[in-house]
Amino acid sequence: MVKTGTAATERTATAQAAEPAFWRVKTLGQMSAAEWEALCDGCGRCCLNKFEDADTGEIFWTSIACRLLDPQSCRCTDYRNRFDKVPDCIGLDVEKVASLAWLPPTCAYRLVHEGRDLYWWHPLVSGTPETVHEAGISVRGRTIAEDGLEPEDYEDFLVDWPGQG
Ligand code: SF4
Ligand code: SF4
Repeated sequence: MVKTGTAATERTATAQAAEPAFWRVKTLGQMSAAEWEALCDGCGRCCLNKFEDADTGEIFWTSIACRLLDPQSCRCTDYRNRFDKVPDCIGLDVEKVASLAWLPPTCAYRLVHEGRDLYWWHPLVSGTPETVHEAGISVRGRTIAEDGLEPEDYEDFLVDWPGQG
């Protein structure tokens, strides 16, 4: 199992500090820390548990959320200490965005890396964090908690929607 997660919180304050449309004029590597955090759309898709086929490398997504993911806000409930509490949480950086093929196609970091613009529902575009949920992009209402589940149970919760655009 590979579990990954990234910056889903602390966006409201950082977004206000970010320059307008910075994602259209800067590469990921040129962004400030505040801009980097603001770029996360808060979808929570990367905070779902997933399996990797050891032979083929294929990723299989589940609807099982990381134990720190708030299923309503789709934000990490302890972003600051996430690596201490969830050792296999993967923090994104420029190199990982370029190399992690499993990043959801809607992920803002992936979009910018590919030279694309953000979608209308991205909070930086819409001005509200609710649109990522209203557009059906986030994991809100579509996850179950991992507590109490054994790894052998995970195959019962396979989904394909995290990989869809
Ligand atoms: S620790 Fe937080 S950021 Fe990391 S996968 Fe879990 S919910 Fe996501
Ligand atoms: S998939 Fe990308 S945009 Fe969505 S929460 Fe994860 S890092 Fe943020």
